[in-house]
Amino acid sequence: MHKEKSGTNPTPAASGQMRTGAQYLASIKADGRHVYMDGELIKDVTSHPAFVGAANSIASLYDLAADPKNEEIMTFKPANGDARYLRCFQVPKSIDDLKGRHLMSEKWAEATCGLMGRTPDHVAGFLAGYAACPDFFAQPDRAYAKNVLQFHQKAMENSLYIAYAIVPPQIDRSKSAHEQSDPTLYAGVVTERDDGIVIRGAQQLATGAVFADYVYLSCIHPLAPGDENYANGVMVPTNAPGLKIYSRRSFARDIGSTFDYPLSGRFDEIDSLVVFDDVFVPWEDVFIYRNRDLCWNQWWKTPSHSYGNHQAQVRYSTKLKFLLGLTQRLNELTGNAGKPPVQIQMGEMAAMATIVDSMITAQEAKATMDENGVVWPDKASLYAVMALQSQINPKMIDIARELSGGSMIMLPSSYLDYRNPDIAKDLERYISSNGVSSKDRVAILKMAWDMIGTEFAGRHQQYEKFYGGASFLIKQNMYRAYDFKHATALVDHILELPPVEQH
Ligand SMILES: Cc1cc2nc3c(=O)[nH]c(=O)nc-3n(C[C@H](O)[C@H](O)[C@H](O)COP(=O)(O)OP(=O)(O)OC[C@H]3O[C@@H](n4cnc5c(N)ncnc54)[C@H](O)[C@@H]3O)c2cc1C
Repeated sequence: MHKEKSGTNPTPAASGQMRTGAQYLASIKADGRHVYMDGELIKDVTSHPAFVGAANSIASLYDLAADPKNEEIMTFKPANGDARYLRCFQVPKSIDDLKGRHLMSEKWAEATCGLMGRTPDHVAGFLAGYAACPDFFAQPDRAYAKNVLQFHQKAMENSLYIAYAIVPPQIDRSKSAHEQSDPTLYAGVVTERDDGIVIRGAQQLATGAVFADYVYLSCIHPLAPGDENYANGVMVPTNAPGLKIYSRRSFARDIGSTFDYPLSGRFDEIDSLVVFDDVFVPWEDVFIYRNRDLCWNQWWKTPSHSYGNHQAQVRYSTKLKFLLGLTQRLNELTGNAGKPPVQIQMGEMAAMATIVDSMITAQEAKATMDENGVVWPDKASLYAVMALQSQINPKMIDIARELSGGSMIMLPSSYLDYRNPDIAKDLERYISSNGVSSKDRVAILKMAWDMIGTEFAGRHQQYEKFYGGASFLIKQNMYRAYDFKHATALVDHILELPPVEQH
C-alpha cells in the first residue's frame, strides 16, 4: 500500500519562506527511495560519492532562490495571496512574466554553467503549462483538472523537484506498447482500485530522478489504439514503495578530486531507468488516465512543452556562453587568442551561441496570449532552435576541440603530481604559460577536457541531441509550428500577378 512520501518536505520552510538547500537535502536524505548502482541499494544519495556533488549543486540552487536578495528574480507572488513561490511555477500572463521565468532559470543555469539540464525549473515548467489549462484535463469520470491544480499548488508551496519519465524503453520500436513481448514491459496501468491505480513496467530514462521529490510518469510517444493502459499522466513520489531507480554509471564516483574533474564532480545529474514494480498511485495524483488523446495533446494543446523547453533553451544558451568562455581562456593559454584565423573560428562559435540566445528573445517577443489570458512562447522560434541544436552543438564542440590542439590531453595524471616537489618543479617549468601558474593552467585545461572529452562530456553531447526527443520528431514539431500558409501564399502571389509580355 502506498504511503504518502514521509513528507515530500519533512523539514519544511516556515510558511511563506523558500525551501533552502539544507531543507532540500534533509528531505531526500535516506527517505526510503530505492536507488541502485553497482549492484547495491544506495541508502543515502546526499552523502554517497557518486551523488554528493550533484546533490550539493541542486541544494545550492535552492539556497540561491531562498536568498532574500534574489527574491524578486527567483520568486513571484500570485495575485490572490501573500506567499511567494519559485517563478518556474508561475503561469505567465504577460510577456514580462515569461521573461521573469527566463531570468530565474538563467540565474540557476549560470550557477551550474548550464551543465544540469533537469534542474527543478524544467518539469516545473511542464506543470505550470498544465495548470494554465486545467479544463484540458477535465473528464466526466474523475476530478483530473482539480488534481492538476492541487498538485501545482502543492509543488509551489513545497518548491518540489520533479523529474519526468516520458519515453518507453527502446526494447522494440517496431511494435506498439501493448504488442511488446510482454504487455507489462512499458509502464502502464495493471489494476484500477477505488482509491487509485497500480502501475507496472518501466520507462527508459529519467534524468535527475535520483535527486527529485517526484517523478512524473507519462508518455510523449504517439500511442496506438490498444495502448490505452500506457496513456497516463501520474505523479509518483521517488520513495514510493515499488519504484526502483537504476542509475547509470556515475561520472563523479571515482574522480579523486574536482581539480581533475571539475564538472563531472559537481554536475553529474544522473540518468536512471525507472521501474514501477506495482506502484500504487492515489487518484489525486492522476492527471490523465487511459486516454490516448489527452496523453498526446498534453504536450501540444497546453503550453507545457513550450515552457519546459523555453527553460531548456535558457539553460543551453548559458552552457554555450560557458563553452565560449572556456575556449577563449584556452586560446589565451596557448597564446593563440590574437591570431586572426583563431578569431574567425571563435567568431563562428560566437555567431551560433548568439543565434541560440536570440531565439529565446524571439520566443518572448513573438509570444501569444490565449483566450484565458495565458502567454505562450512562440512555438516556431522554440522548435527552430531545438531542431538545429543537434547540428550546432557538435559543430561548436568540434571547433573547441580543434583549437585546443594537444593541450587538453598532455596534462598531469592528477592533482597528486603537485604534491611531489620534484614533479611539481617540472610541471611548473613545462606546463605553464604567459604568467599563468602550472596549477592554474592545468585547472582550466582539465575543465576544458571535462567539457569536451570525458565520459561526462560525451553524455552531454548525447543529452543535447536527445533531451527534447530525437531530432526527426523535433523537426516534425517545427513542421507543425511553421506558417506554410503564408509561405505558399507568396508563391501564389507571383502566379496571380498580371502577365507581362515583352514580345
Ligand atoms: C542524456 C539523456 C537524458 C534524457 N533525459 C530524459 C528524461 O529526463 N526524461 C525522459 O523521459 N527522457 C529522457 N531522455 C530520453 C529521450 O527523451 C529519448 O532518448 C529520446 O526521446 C529519443 O528516443 P529513443 O532513445 O527512444 O530513440 P528512438 O525513438 O528509438 O530513435 C533512435 C533513432 O532512430 C532513428 N529513428 C527512429 N525512428 C525514426 C523515424 N520514424 N524516422 C527517422 N528516424 C528514426 C533516429 O535516428 C533516432 O534518433 C534522455 C535521453 C538522453 C540521451
